[in-house]
Amino acid sequence: MAAKLTTKEESDKHKIITSAVHAEGGKICMQILHTGRYGYHAKIVAPSAIQAPINFFKPKELSHDEILKTISDYVQCALLAKEAGYDGVEIMGSEGYLINQFIAKRTNQRNDEWGGVYENRIKFPIQIVEQTRKAVGKECIIIYRLSMLDLVEDGSTWSEVVQLAKAIEAAGATLINTGIGWHEARIPTIATKVPRKAFAWVTKKLKSEVSIPLIAVNRINTPKIAEEVISEGCADMISMARPFLADPDFVLKSMEDRADEINTCIACNQACLDHTFQMKISSCLVNPRACHETELIYTTTLSPKNIAVVGGGPAGMAFAHIAAMRGHNVTLYEASHELGGQFNMAKIIPGKEEYAETIRYYKTMLSKYKVKLILNKKVTSEELEKGSYDEIVLASGVVPRKVNIPGIEHKKVLNYLDVLQYKVQVGKTVAIVGAGGIGFDVAEYLLHTNGHRETQQINDFLVEWGVDHEYHSAGAITKPQIKSPIREIFILKRSTGKHGATLGKTTGWIHKASLTNHGVKMLADVQYIKIDDEGFHIEVKGEKILLPVDNVIICAGQESSRTLYDSLKTSGRNPHLIGGAFEAAELDAKSAIYQACHLAAGI
Ligand code: FAD
Ligand code: SF4
Repeated sequence: MAAKLTTKEESDKHKIITSAVHAEGGKICMQILHTGRYGYHAKIVAPSAIQAPINFFKPKELSHDEILKTISDYVQCALLAKEAGYDGVEIMGSEGYLINQFIAKRTNQRNDEWGGVYENRIKFPIQIVEQTRKAVGKECIIIYRLSMLDLVEDGSTWSEVVQLAKAIEAAGATLINTGIGWHEARIPTIATKVPRKAFAWVTKKLKSEVSIPLIAVNRINTPKIAEEVISEGCADMISMARPFLADPDFVLKSMEDRADEINTCIACNQACLDHTFQMKISSCLVNPRACHETELIYTTTLSPKNIAVVGGGPAGMAFAHIAAMRGHNVTLYEASHELGGQFNMAKIIPGKEEYAETIRYYKTMLSKYKVKLILNKKVTSEELEKGSYDEIVLASGVVPRKVNIPGIEHKKVLNYLDVLQYKVQVGKTVAIVGAGGIGFDVAEYLLHTNGHRETQQINDFLVEWGVDHEYHSAGAITKPQIKSPIREIFILKRSTGKHGATLGKTTGWIHKASLTNHGVKMLADVQYIKIDDEGFHIEVKGEKILLPVDNVIICAGQESSRTLYDSLKTSGRNPHLIGGAFEAAELDAKSAIYQACHLAAGI
């Protein structure tokens, strides 16, 4: 399906979608989005020729005639959408895209009737809505996505937001959806670090100003949170996107009071937005079927097998429940007292609490499909052989990689398992060896009292990231207020280059900003000399330095644990390897779950 709708031919193709939705009794609107200066090619256009800080390309300024033509393009697109069977359209006026670029002084420095005073800058969206309403008729839904918080300098003020909302209502919009933050804003708006319903308050603020229904968005990922937003009077409707990638049956399960069975979006962005930026098809870390529904199919098996699964981490749990759902007899062995594997460590990192939801989902599914669970059992190859299993699936994960530094046996040296799993007491000054995702997560954990952030307090989040909750400033941004860090932390790496370069495109900058805001010092190109009572002796670019730290925490990667695999192979079995046991790639639950689901679909 083309991501554009400019011809009758394209409109016909959209009918596949609209008729499928209508056959299920649903309604569907299509979003019309012009990226303006965010487009990623040399011919982009914008109200003024001002390059976006997140784009390599500089836009060309639209002429008066081109603006009129663009307005009529919106109208034309809406008409084609109607023809394709959509019940309406959403006009994307937020997130820093073209319409938003007209509205804000930051990007609109024109001197003609489309620039200057606010009334001129909002003429573009008003005309689009007015002319679209005229063209599509009274019944067609028009949603206008209005940037209620720009979160950038020279963004809209609150009174401007209200003025625009009233004008958009008068122009004929049916509903107003909430837009939060431009893409170039340096404040996270959808990542897992953002507390649930963190921005519903701004939709609530607008409620009394207009009479058409308002829609709340961003980090609303469970039916319970959605209910809260409505019952607290923040909005009339809820908008979600990623939760439907994570679980296409979200609505059905909510209606049938089966919220426990919802595979919850953990806001990791790893397989949806990060894929988009890598020019890959979007999918979902917790649901690899998303956007691959015709390739990854779970059919009932005609020949049920006895299957042993070793390891109750994401890979083992994903495999076990799908294989059991298909009709196999599955036994899952887990060495520890609980399911979840490394996600039990991920879920205690401040800002990654959502990972607990994946464990909850899998537990529910394992019980629903009657997987035989054997906890507290570090199963051996002999036991597996005796078990007369048709198939053995090893999802036994990883072990921390050992590093060879003089003094590595010193009592002040720990690894990430000691800190996150065994809760060993850590001192006030810490050097972390390794700047991958786990090194970053351990640093984040150690910045908070007792390692754990009690709950995700919305207000604390807004204050820490400089969101002006009172909305006194344009763009609703203010100076971030950072609590004094409780530890002095250094993150060291041997290689040159920037820290965090291996982290996800759309979330790595957030993790890095959080640590730097809290004074974490990041050193690259480091030679490790020795660890002793004095601290950590290192050399950076030829300069010898002593870091007088209480602890050195090794987060230098992981290795697959292959002992079981090797001994089963020796005795002639052919076990399957999935997840970290197949390849240790640090933060890679995406591959672990993907492999598990594909193996379970075909076994
Ligand atoms: P594991 O999760 O390691 O599970 C293996 C399980 O096997 C363990 O429970 C273990 O006890 C059990 N086991 C081992 N041997 C035996 C045996 N002989 N008998 C019975 N049981 C056995 N990934 C991401 O994609 N995104 C993130 O944001 C992210 N954050 C992370 C944060 C932290 C702090 C950590 C530590 C990891 C994070 N990860 C993240 C990595 C992710 O958790 C792993 O990629 C994923 O857990 C691998 O899943 P797995 O099932 O292969 O292995
Ligand atoms: Fe949600 Fe992560 Fe799936 Fe994206 S990849 S839909 S953020 S769980």
